[in-house]
Amino acid sequence: MNNDSVFQVALNTLNNAGKIGNIDKRVLDVLQAPKRIYQFRIPMKLDNGSFEVFQAYRVHYCDALGPCRNGTRIRPALTLDEIKALGLFMTIKHCAADIPAGGAKGGIKADPSKLTENEMERLVRAFVRNLTPKGPWADVPGADIGTGEQAMAWMLDEYEQITGIHCPAAINDKPPVLGGSLGGEAATGLGVFIVLMAAAQDIKMDVTKASAAVQGFGQVGSVLASLLCKEGCKIKAVSDVYGGIYAEAGLDIESLKEHVAATGKVSGFAGSKEITNEELFALDCDILVPAAVQNVIHKGNAGDIKAKLIVEGANGPVTTEADALLTAKGVTIAPDVVANSGGATVCHFERTQGLSDQYWDLETVNAKLETRILKAYHDAADTARKFKVSSLRTGAWIHALQKLEKAMKFRGWV
Ligand code: NAD
Repeated sequence: MNNDSVFQVALNTLNNAGKIGNIDKRVLDVLQAPKRIYQFRIPMKLDNGSFEVFQAYRVHYCDALGPCRNGTRIRPALTLDEIKALGLFMTIKHCAADIPAGGAKGGIKADPSKLTENEMERLVRAFVRNLTPKGPWADVPGADIGTGEQAMAWMLDEYEQITGIHCPAAINDKPPVLGGSLGGEAATGLGVFIVLMAAAQDIKMDVTKASAAVQGFGQVGSVLASLLCKEGCKIKAVSDVYGGIYAEAGLDIESLKEHVAATGKVSGFAGSKEITNEELFALDCDILVPAAVQNVIHKGNAGDIKAKLIVEGANGPVTTEADALLTAKGVTIAPDVVANSGGATVCHFERTQGLSDQYWDLETVNAKLETRILKAYHDAADTARKFKVSSLRTGAWIHALQKLEKAMKFRGWV
């Protein structure tokens, strides 16, 4: 992976779109850094008697459009730089998807695979206590890499223990039994698939005759790969943090899911050949979906990419230089702020349901998701056309920045 600052990559995108979109310089000045950063350390006695202090962050990037929302990432290599970038991405993602929310992200530098369940529970409860939660109209944490519905359930319970009131809208990505939305877990992968199909149609690519490679086989990558495979697309390669697998005739994704459930990794799947993550990017295929981590497509490997369509399941997987190289080559990139906004969109539905105490069936959630994410995609494409740029990313960011500009002006901030 390229070690460029992912926050710098996000700022480059912001400033480039701001310039092309003629966005008020004062708005761009506001967005050069987060509004507020919380940093704290969580001391913890581990179950084996040892002791560790965990670094934690919560970034409120911008709340011009509404309360700060989403994302709590737990991973060993976590940095504040990454959390700031993700906070900015969330700000833009909410605008691009017409969600009345600000952007936030938080995280704990820890390795979930090395923590017992008991330690994990104490860690996320301590995270909520240290945040001194301000509730659904100020800051709503959700899940991200290393956290899921169990962690969010503990967070909600801790919040409700502190405040003494039930408030399902205070935390996102909870299990449905505690007020979470149906369809939440699959929402991002489904959204990536819907955007991929729309982008393929625009470039006249027949997905049923196309081939694809998917990096990352977690919550996003596995759902996307499964839907794409059912559509008839040949998934030639899939990878995870341990490496990748390849089969020229295409992988059977449902069997692969069983293999991963049994072994914890994609490697060793019957009938496939082992490849590296770098080899996956250079494969001869039509569609590439990076759905793992940031900065994986960079100037060092962009030249090797043969795919004509890249759909960003991960946040920030393509660096600024790689984006320019690929766009110049005529590659269509469906950007993260649109392509992976399905999770943020269903979090918005989760909040709406929590605040109203009315819960929707899965068909309603998925139908509303499809309408919203397609609108976000077409808004980005229309804005790109209007400003005569070929980059959908620039189109999406200009569309979002125009909205932020309006909101900041009405508020009297700029
Ligand atoms: P996950 O933890 O469920 O899965 C991540 C996958 O990527 C795993 O297969 C893991 O082995 C693999 N991976 C991790 N590091 C890797 C590396 N260095 N090289 C190759 N593979 C690697 O996470 P997820 O929820 O699927 O999220 C994947 C990406 O999508 C992240 O960038 C996340 O920020 C983004 N995203 C997720 C959601 C969501 O709702 N889950 C929403 C928006 C964006």
